[in-house]
Amino acid sequence: MGFAKASVRDAEVAGRRVLTRVDFNVPLAEGRVEDDMRIRAALPTIELLRERGAATVLVSHLGRPQGVDPALSMKPVGERLAELIGAEVAQSPEVVGGRAAELATGLDDGEVMLLENSRFEPGETGNDPELARRLAELADVYVDDAFGAAHRAHATTEGVAHLLPAYAGLLLEREVNELTGVVSSPRRPLVVVLGGAKISDKIAVIDRFLDLADEILIGGAMCFSFFRAKELATGDSLVEEQGVVLAGQALEKAERAGCELSLPVDLVIGDRLEASAQRRELDGVEVPDGWMGLDIGPRTAAAYGESIADAGTVLWNGPMGAFEIDAFAAGTRTVAEAVANAAGKSVVGGGDSVAALRQFGLAEGVDWLSTGGGASLELLEGKPLPGVEALLDA
Ligand code: ADP
Ligand code: MG
Repeated sequence: MGFAKASVRDAEVAGRRVLTRVDFNVPLAEGRVEDDMRIRAALPTIELLRERGAATVLVSHLGRPQGVDPALSMKPVGERLAELIGAEVAQSPEVVGGRAAELATGLDDGEVMLLENSRFEPGETGNDPELARRLAELADVYVDDAFGAAHRAHATTEGVAHLLPAYAGLLLEREVNELTGVVSSPRRPLVVVLGGAKISDKIAVIDRFLDLADEILIGGAMCFSFFRAKELATGDSLVEEQGVVLAGQALEKAERAGCELSLPVDLVIGDRLEASAQRRELDGVEVPDGWMGLDIGPRTAAAYGESIADAGTVLWNGPMGAFEIDAFAAGTRTVAEAVANAAGKSVVGGGDSVAALRQFGLAEGVDWLSTGGGASLELLEGKPLPGVEALLDA
C-alpha cells in the first residue's frame, strides 16, 4: 500500500510561487539555532523546488508565542537555512500582509523566502479561514513538508491546503511511508519498545500494537503503572492514577491477543530525580518507600537487547529511564545500541528517544528517525492526520 497523496515530485512548480509549510520548530539558544536537524530534514524538498525553478515561500511555527514575540522570530532560522542552502533567504517581517506579499511577488524562479512565525497570527491555531485565504494569496501551489505539525489542523497545515493545489513534500511522504510500513507490512518478528514518562501518552499505541506486534517491551516510568496494576510496590516512582486502569486493561488484552507484553525484571532506583541522587540496583521490581524506579536494570536491558537483535522490524518510542542523568542512562543506552545495531529494520519516533540516540552518537545506525513526536504517535495509533488528509489524492 503506497502513499495515497499527490507528491511534490509530480507537481507543476516551474515559474510558480509555492507556499511550503515546513517544520522549523527548532531549539534556540542566545538567538541562534541550537540544533538544525529539522531544517536539514526539509532540505530535499527545498532543493527540489529550487532546481525546478519554483519561487519558494516557506512558512513554519516556532515555539508557542502568545502573539508577536521577538524572542521567537524566525530570523535565526532563516540565517541558518541560508548557510545550509548557500543562497539568500529573504525574510518577511510578517506572516501575511503587504510586506509579505511584496516579497513573495518579487521572488525570482529558484529563490527562497521565509515568512515570520505563523503563530504570531492569532488565526493560526484556530485554523481561521481568513488567515488561510491570505496565505493562499501569496502563492499558486501549496506543499506540506511539516510532518511534525501534521497532527494539527491549523491555518498553515490544513486550512490553506483546501485553497490551493496541495502536494506532499518529500519528508512528509517518507515519514508517512516509513511509519505506516511498520504497521502494514513489517518483517517479523515485529518488536515494539515503549517507554517514556506517561502511559497516557502511549496507551493508544500499546493498544493498537497488541493486535499487530509479536512482542512489546515496556520500560520508562510507564512500567510502574503496570506494576501497580499487578499490585506490586512502586515506592515513590512516577505513577499516573488513570494509568493504572489503562495498564490493567492492556495486560488483560495481551492475554487475549497473544502478544507478548514484557515488563522489566530488575530496576535501577534512586532516592530523587536528580543528578546528585543516591543510586541502587534492585534485583526485582518492588520499589521500597523513599525510592523511585529511574531505569530498567541490566538483566532487563540485556533481554530487551536480545529481542531487538532478533527482530525483523523494531519500533522504538520512549526512553527506558531518566537518561538525561548519567546514573540512570544505562538501560536507554543498551536499548539504543541494540536498535542502532539491529539487523532488522529500525524505526524510532519521539523527541526524547531521538535525542537519546543522538546523545549516544548512535543515530546513524537507525533506518528511520522520525522528526515528529506527537504526529508519529497519532499516525501509529491509526488516526488520520489533518495535515495529510487535506492534500490532493494521488
Ligand atoms: P519521547 O519524547 O521519546 O516520546 P517521552 O516524552 O514520552 O519520550 O518521555 C521522555 C521522558 O521520560 C524523559 O525526559 C525521561 O527522563 C522520562 N523518564 C523515563 N523513564 C522515567 C522514570 N522511570 N522516571 C522518571 N522519568 C522517566
Ligand atoms: Mg518527549
